[in-house]
Amino acid sequence: MIVYNLRCKNGHEFEGWFRDSSAYDHQFEDGKLSCPTCNSRKVEKAIMAPALAGLRDAPAKPDQARQQRQFMTGLRKYVQDHAEYVGPNFAEEARKIHYGESVDRHIYGETTMEEARELVDEGLDVAPLPPDIDGAN
Ligand SMILES: [Zn+2]
Repeated sequence: MIVYNLRCKNGHEFEGWFRDSSAYDHQFEDGKLSCPTCNSRKVEKAIMAPALAGLRDAPAKPDQARQQRQFMTGLRKYVQDHAEYVGPNFAEEARKIHYGESVDRHIYGETTMEEARELVDEGLDVAPLPPDIDGAN
């Protein structure tokens, strides 16, 4: 799953979970996206979540870095509030959900890059969670 920050024409911002980026594109093109506050169907992406990977290594202007930090902190909080923490069992639990052996839900936890790549190869939607920047210092 990936998370997009969405914004309607009236300026309401909300998060949307999508299977992948093409799932968002299809829902956008079909006009299936609507604002939970005012039901407006004029909805667009505010910031794209998948671009988060590797951001720490990319040079950024101070204001961009601050925005990215705020966004990543918000995304992490959103995931922690809405997804179930499964700890080191992430890969195992993600597979169970993918193959219908466990309840379909959002989960997060820890896994290795190697395991994450295997999950992606198996067709699972795995996205990196932003680092807990605020808690680091
Ligand atoms: Zn709205």
